[in-house]
Amino acid sequence: MIAPLRVLVADDDEFILEIIVELLEQLGLTDIHRAQDGHGVLACVDDPQTRPQLILCDVDMQGMDGIECLRHLAARRFAGAVIVMSGSGARMLSVAAELVQEHKLHFLAALLKPIDFNELRQALEKLTLRGPSAAPSVQGALLSPDAIREGLRADAVQIYLQPKITLAKRAVIGAEALLRWRSPSGGIVPPVAVIPVAEAHGLIDALLHCVFRQAVACLAQWQAQGLNLTVAVNVSMDNLAALDLPETLAAMARDAGADVRGIVLEITESRLMLNPIASLEVISRLRLKGFRLSIDDFGTGYASLEKLSKLPVDELKIDQSFVRGSSVDVASRVILESSIRLGHSLGMRVVAEGAESFADLELLNDLGCDQVQGYVIAKPMPADRFLPWLQDWARDHAGVLRGA
Ligand code: C2E
Ligand code: MG
Ligand code: MG
Repeated sequence: MIAPLRVLVADDDEFILEIIVELLEQLGLTDIHRAQDGHGVLACVDDPQTRPQLILCDVDMQGMDGIECLRHLAARRFAGAVIVMSGSGARMLSVAAELVQEHKLHFLAALLKPIDFNELRQALEKLTLRGPSAAPSVQGALLSPDAIREGLRADAVQIYLQPKITLAKRAVIGAEALLRWRSPSGGIVPPVAVIPVAEAHGLIDALLHCVFRQAVACLAQWQAQGLNLTVAVNVSMDNLAALDLPETLAAMARDAGADVRGIVLEITESRLMLNPIASLEVISRLRLKGFRLSIDDFGTGYASLEKLSKLPVDELKIDQSFVRGSSVDVASRVILESSIRLGHSLGMRVVAEGAESFADLELLNDLGCDQVQGYVIAKPMPADRFLPWLQDWARDHAGVLRGA
């Protein structure tokens, strides 16, 4: 299902513009605005009445072109999603896609014109909540900065836990803490609607602290029960700008009575590679404090072997796009296989994310991947459901619970 978003389409060719609008309408979107160059885009963004949650932007427009427009969107800290489109070939498109990410905008997709309906649909579906169906989900719309400020005061942040197991023994080694946002109406808002806004409005540290506090409380509880498990927390690149992050997190772990060595911090590859030097200091000091570090969504960024080998990182987490369906798709399989080999050759543990089938599990095991996380094991669950789940798992896989 596609989320009900306010969308802006920018293209200087009126005919193409109308075709794209029509495709969007076929996908059920109704709140669609039009612009014919970058100036039109910015006018639409600057007006709170029309500010879009998603922009589809042509790269080569008369007037202000798409490339320049991206720079202005970045300067405005535009928090919505961006799809870049081009009719000038794949090379131009990949440059534009790279720029979107370099500007720290929320990159959704790069589409070659003429736009393929299915590619467009898949891109839009990425904005829609994946995950547990237990609670009604609030789909699509980004939260406003004020709603986030209010929610932070009202305990809207909640973590869900998704288990990680070893492939060899199917032993549970821990869980990743994923942010969920409880809206005033009781629905659950996914991280994609919260994180980019929080990053753009200086609220990302407060968000991390909320998630981290809940995650280490779980860890302390497990450790008190003698369970040798880890908890992973996602750290945004913007969080690494806080130079006292290592001390702050270590103090929070200590206050909760949790051992720092049970905490894994996941940092997304693409963002990490944008600013490797500035973040290197904080990353190194996090490592020195005893946190374990993981490169998340590996394969989606542009990490060179050289940069990668210099990072004091313990774990590579292969992006789900290469994991899911890798048992049937040759290209995914090749990337998966070489990522596992690369991780191991750098002495890292390799985790596959997003395994949805037993065939995926079997292939990962054959390729020598160390750990796996995915719907085939368990979907993310409310934190208080984790220990009961663990008991069921341990019963069904007798003797494999680490530490037991
Ligand atoms: P991520 O860190 O790569 O987390 C994995 C995402 O993949 C989660 O989505 C999880 O629900 C989903 N997933 C896991 N296994 C499967 C599977 O088998 N199939 C499918 N279709 N999906 C699977 P979620 O919870 O929506 O989180 C999305 C992203 O939001 C995360 O990706 C992470 O980058 C970010 N995020 C989540 N929580 C936080 C947070 O506390 N702080 C920050 N900065 N980012 C967060
Ligand atoms: Mg993660
Ligand atoms: Mg990931």
